[in-house]
Amino acid sequence: MTGLIDLVRFSSLGAYKDALAERSEVFTARWLWGEHLEAACRHSGLYPGYCSLCAKPTEFRFSAGPGQSVNLREELHCRDCGLSARARVAASLLKMACPPDSAAKVYLTEQTTALYRHVRRHWSDVIGSEYFEESARDRIQAFMRDSLGLDERLRFEDVTALSFADQTLDAIVSCDVLEHVPDYRAAAAEFARVLKSGGQLVLTVPFLDQTQSTLTRARVLADGQIEHLEEPEYHGDPLDPEGVLAFYHFGWDLLETLRASGFESAQWCLPWAPAEGIFSGQWTLLATR
Ligand SMILES: [Zn+2]
Repeated sequence: MTGLIDLVRFSSLGAYKDALAERSEVFTARWLWGEHLEAACRHSGLYPGYCSLCAKPTEFRFSAGPGQSVNLREELHCRDCGLSARARVAASLLKMACPPDSAAKVYLTEQTTALYRHVRRHWSDVIGSEYFEESARDRIQAFMRDSLGLDERLRFEDVTALSFADQTLDAIVSCDVLEHVPDYRAAAAEFARVLKSGGQLVLTVPFLDQTQSTLTRARVLADGQIEHLEEPEYHGDPLDPEGVLAFYHFGWDLLETLRASGFESAQWCLPWAPAEGIFSGQWTLLATR
């Protein structure tokens, strides 16, 4: 448990399937709860609950487009900290791994988000970065200042070639970035290189929980052209109106990639905390260097 969150950890697809078989009522009930809530939450509204990051009762704000059901992962923003359900899970797991008073050096692969702002506020030694064309710098800098009230210099990092020295970070939080990195194995190796021994990686990506092998949706050819192997999928990005292409939907083999990169352990974790507005399917990967 972390706060009110029941966190189930799995080291392999086999272990997950065993748990599904042994506790099918529990997993089915949780899945149904989320499904029914999604269907019930049309338009917009408030879901009452408790935010353990804010340590107080709150309301989780949600909205959905016309005719659409609510996205329980990207919505349910806490009234007070403003974090979505996905971001609250990431912040809660970071808090569990490196408490805010631990003086941990924390790196986030984002700098223009409510999650970054939250971590910056509560941890003392925090670095965030974005990946952008130089021509977009002024626009992103303005977004960070105007939308988030963050008056600080935008930092550029390529996750496949980080500027940090070896073994200098205590934790890395990377949310929905790796699927946009063609050479994600290089990023995994970089995360392993820059984390201290015992350092923690908190990671979210699109995850196929029934599938061992990562699905390659697109790849970069030798001449730099992109070849689409699946229907192109672009993820919404407040910094890029066209969205960003997803090269992958990951399978359980991402755990093996991380272990082969130097992580001592890696697990896919399934949090569940309806009182905290955290429902089924919010897979988050935790790895220890
Ligand atoms: Zn909150």
